Amino acid sequence: MTVFEKSVAGRIGFRLPDSQIEEKNFDFATHLLRKKSLELPELSEPDVVRHYTNLASKNYSVDKGFYPLGSCTMKYNPKINEYVASMKGFTDIHPYQPWEFTQGALSLMYELKEYLCKITGMDEMSLQPAAGAHGELTGMLIARAYHLSRGDLKRHIALVPDSAHGTNPASAAMAGFDVVELKSTQDGLVDLAELERHLSDEVAVLMLTNPNTLGLFEKDIMKISQMVHSAGALLYYDGANLNAIMGKFRPGDMGFDIVHLNLHKTFSAPHGMGGPGSGPVGVKAFLAEFLPIPIIRKDAERYYPDFGLPNSIGRMRSFYGNFSVLVKAYTYILMMGKDGLTHASEMAVLNANYLRALISKILKIASPRRCMHEFVVDGSQFVKETGVKILDVAKRLLDYELHAPTVYFPLIVHEDMMIEPTETENKETLERFARVLEKVVEEARHNPEIVKGAPHRTPVKRLDDVNATKKPIYRWKKENSL
Ligand SMILES: *Cc1c(COP(=O)(O)O)cnc(C)c1O
Repeated sequence: MTVFEKSVAGRIGFRLPDSQIEEKNFDFATHLLRKKSLELPELSEPDVVRHYTNLASKNYSVDKGFYPLGSCTMKYNPKINEYVASMKGFTDIHPYQPWEFTQGALSLMYELKEYLCKITGMDEMSLQPAAGAHGELTGMLIARAYHLSRGDLKRHIALVPDSAHGTNPASAAMAGFDVVELKSTQDGLVDLAELERHLSDEVAVLMLTNPNTLGLFEKDIMKISQMVHSAGALLYYDGANLNAIMGKFRPGDMGFDIVHLNLHKTFSAPHGMGGPGSGPVGVKAFLAEFLPIPIIRKDAERYYPDFGLPNSIGRMRSFYGNFSVLVKAYTYILMMGKDGLTHASEMAVLNANYLRALISKILKIASPRRCMHEFVVDGSQFVKETGVKILDVAKRLLDYELHAPTVYFPLIVHEDMMIEPTETENKETLERFARVLEKVVEEARHNPEIVKGAPHRTPVKRLDDVNATKKPIYRWKKENSL
């Protein structure tokens, strides 16, 4: 029931102070005036508090329980991030203020980009993009601007491995490239012979992530980098998830020219449900002139936004990006320090491998190789034996108050589950998840109907997820109330 449907005429929860302003009759055009009063819900304060508290408790979040969503890095978001982001000095400033008066905010952004450059091995960075996919688009536009600036007009192809995150080909296409898919090897790695076949003077860029979406490290990365560069193309790093490598090794050292990060994954800003994100883009020095404007710089006396980049791809977002997310990531980096970030990567990989070992006794793991921060379960045999789909297993996990892992991604493994526990989970939580998964697999063998009909205990059951994305209903109207 919506708050509108709970409304009772005349019930009051808030009283506005008496207006001190004298009423005047303005000559508004009559067609602009409201014909009847605004239909706001009328409820008491406890009604409102209960309404929203009950709604919030129906939701599942990383603050409520384990959230092993592969590729999404649902790590715990330290509460100090929220505290710092809500400090008056940050919330009461406006980007239109003269920058001489917002030195604190500019210095934070400057230092953050310096840290991120160090972490990734890049030379310059823009904090403007508002999400990972937005960072990819920024990176692709930079690649395009680079080739065009050299008069190299033939390069219309972006190579993308078949294991890539779906946003990669979409971003490359949006930037005007023709996307060509690279088939992975049986092991799920880049196939060097396949790459060789596709490289030409028409290729602008290869988009890659390492570790890849199967959680595997591309061991031939130096060779790949050398091949791509000798063909005159650029190497792009999808760094949405840096959780296995922070403090251990750097995209810049592996030969990548452009990288985007997801501060709302690796750097502990909350995400999901379309909340604000941040997808900074870092580049090597030879590409810095193409970054979006303004770039935040520092001279002897102060920090300032530099708009003087004639070859810039332009603005990618208003102002400086999602500033509150930048504050959260900055807080996280300072809290962790270099050793802390390195430790987080080590624990993320350890947790993933521990859980992988537990689950390998229950279901088949897609790759026999040791994983990095995540791993993929291959459920195809299980599905054949039981007739229960991996989607059903995922739904059944909800009944045990666990969030489901990512399913049906990456696309190169069928009936798969992609699991990323992150470093913030303890051993007991990982063991409980494995025990519950084992129980659900048992249920699938002996009582498949209960799994196929799941979830049974959640506020809503199976949803029409296609229509939820294709025809979302954002507005409540009286007519469609139940
Ligand atoms: C999440 C993710 C993205 C996209 O990031 P958004 O912020 O959701 O746009 C891109 N690549 C990979 C590997 C990801 O995990």
